[in-house]
Amino acid sequence: MSEDFTSIDKLGEFGLIQALTEKIPLQKASTVLGIGDDAAAFEHLLELSLCSSDLLVEGVHFDLTYVPPQHLGYKAAVVNFSDIAAMNGRPSQLLINLGISNRFGLEYLQELYRGIKLACEVYEVDLVGGDTTSSFSGLLISGTAIGSVPSERLVKRSGAKPNDLVVVSGDLGGAYLGLQILQREKSVFEADPDMQPQLAGNEYVLQRQLRPEARTDVVELLESLDVIPTSMIDLSDGLSSDLLHLCEASKTGVHLYEEKLPIDDQVFELAETFSLNASTVALNGGEDYELLFTIDLKDHDKIKGHPHLSVIGHMTDLEEGRHLITPDGNRLALQAQGWNSLLKQQK
Ligand code: ADP
Ligand code: MG
Repeated sequence: MSEDFTSIDKLGEFGLIQALTEKIPLQKASTVLGIGDDAAAFEHLLELSLCSSDLLVEGVHFDLTYVPPQHLGYKAAVVNFSDIAAMNGRPSQLLINLGISNRFGLEYLQELYRGIKLACEVYEVDLVGGDTTSSFSGLLISGTAIGSVPSERLVKRSGAKPNDLVVVSGDLGGAYLGLQILQREKSVFEADPDMQPQLAGNEYVLQRQLRPEARTDVVELLESLDVIPTSMIDLSDGLSSDLLHLCEASKTGVHLYEEKLPIDDQVFELAETFSLNASTVALNGGEDYELLFTIDLKDHDKIKGHPHLSVIGHMTDLEEGRHLITPDGNRLALQAQGWNSLLKQQK
């Protein structure tokens, strides 16, 4: 964090908003009016509009001792873009609401906005507004993303049918292990402030936790492959819980194959360091922001062997139940354990 501290009390709400949002170029044709009026205006000709919010609360969703403000801003934007991608859409506008205490100076908030602006650049989204207020309970950041999708390409959670293939993008479990490393280094530091954090070598999982990406590229890829998923969700809670959401909404069962789970080598190694089973981490670790979707069997050839996509199972009749099939053929009931299971498993 910068050494400079400009009190936000001195700037006032108007001065602060101006300092944070000046020089933001608008680049989307769909943005008619950006920051500066009572509401932003946009139009999505011929497409459905999509809208999604996420609220991040200090102490609940992030810990300021190890999350740099620029990364926090980036993540606050990207988690919203991910929800738009999960509807098979593209994000185009973003609003950011802030609750801040005078503990934060202008310099800190400018860093936060550097991250938000970077995410907007990378994903070609316009920052078009928000609200700013004081908070007595730490930092609150809420993002609202607006996007669009041609109506025939909209994908809901509820469209999967028995025999559809279950597909996931990227790899799983990294963000959870990144968090484990940050928490471990925080407790080492609290015990002895002279200790330097040992983060080297763990860059991949740290990036997965601190600076996640939304898989809007997968939305583009599916369009170029001429595939419309039958159902889709983004992975925020963990594969087990989110897959169960698809099954619930679609009224199906599922067979998920443990040996097919995409897991990075670094995740395997680190799981061992933390005495965790890598598959359990992949199943229950949250915040990977990959896309989980189902496709009709007839589309299998179109995605087969694609390096960013793994077929990890198939939907079944509801009566079959929802199971993880282990490499030795055992069937375990899939459970939405989220992070609890990981805590229990840790020695
Ligand atoms: P109002 O009082 O009508 O809600 P504000 O004075 O709060 O308007 O906001 C003025 C303009 O600045 C609006 O366009 C609003 O969307 C924008 N704005 C306010 N806070 C933020 C923020 N944290 N990030 C981005 N834009 C913001
Ligand atoms: Mg206001």
